[in-house]
Amino acid sequence: MKKIEVACPTCKKKFAYYSSEFRPFCSERCRLIDLGQWLTESYAVPVQKLTEDEQQTLEQLINEKNSDEESSDEDDLR
Ligand SMILES: [Zn+2]
Repeated sequence: MKKIEVACPTCKKKFAYYSSEFRPFCSERCRLIDLGQWLTESYAVPVQKLTEDEQQTLEQLINEKNSDEESSDEDDLR
């Protein structure tokens, strides 16, 4: 069987494509980091393994970001 080596989009490490369950990423960690960056743009998520609390925090950040875009400058009225 032919081995295909690709570079992980997150950590740039080369790995055998079909050896990873999380392709195109080398690991779950890299997949979650990429997902976190995509959802929150440049917010850096130091993901090891997400606990339930951390998942909620991430969801909150995503929700806050979404509501930020809708509420525009109204929060600044004093
Ligand atoms: Zn990686």
